[in-house]
Amino acid sequence: MDAARKPPDWRDTKVGTKVRAAAWLATVVGEGNMFSRKQLHEAFPDVANIDRRLRDLRGDYGWDIKVFRGAPEGADMQLVKIGDPVWDPARTRRSRPLVSAAERMWILERDGFRCTSCGISAGESHLDSGDPAQLYVRHVVPISEGGKAGVENMVTLCNSCNAGVRALGDSAARLAKVSRYVCDLPARQQTILLAWMAKGERSPSPVERAWAMYRHLSPELQKIVRQKLADEVERTADAETEV
Ligand SMILES: [Zn+2]
Repeated sequence: MDAARKPPDWRDTKVGTKVRAAAWLATVVGEGNMFSRKQLHEAFPDVANIDRRLRDLRGDYGWDIKVFRGAPEGADMQLVKIGDPVWDPARTRRSRPLVSAAERMWILERDGFRCTSCGISAGESHLDSGDPAQLYVRHVVPISEGGKAGVENMVTLCNSCNAGVRALGDSAARLAKVSRYVCDLPARQQTILLAWMAKGERSPSPVERAWAMYRHLSPELQKIVRQKLADEVERTADAETEV
């Protein structure tokens, strides 16, 4: 953060709420320190969507903010790492992924509305923290490192994989546990898993992809698709009895 401009006063209501939230975290909380959702809400009583601003910082600007679910009130969050200095437009505009809403949707659909790293879909709980997952669209090779702009260089990642947060635990114990688990899988699932390992990402099965797509429809459209499928299933059953 040395070369960056200093954060503004977080109480300055003339700057945007995202910048104010970032300034509060950087100057009041400080990198590495614990804070609480309650403190955040007390600092910004007039900002209704302050939680969303935190999500934006985590998702779009590389701020590593850990949430400890079920932790005692007063210390349920940690500012692990300060990300992009969002108060300095010259330093953040470039690193922001340029993707339209339509492109974002295209990428999410291509990836089956799942994290391409761990396979979680939006709203499912993370195994380690229990927090609901959020999906982000990210560059595979960052633009700053020569990555191309455009959807081919973009991929869906959950907040956990995006932040590179690793589950705590002894690596030898984890190795033994995971090894045992994968070796105990049925043969067919082992073949699928091996293919995912080779590819470095989890490809959703056709039925999972269909389910994820269905979940992202409005309730009215879900009803239409459900009826269509019910008719289709019935027709197939009829055809089978005729044979
Ligand atoms: Zn993930």
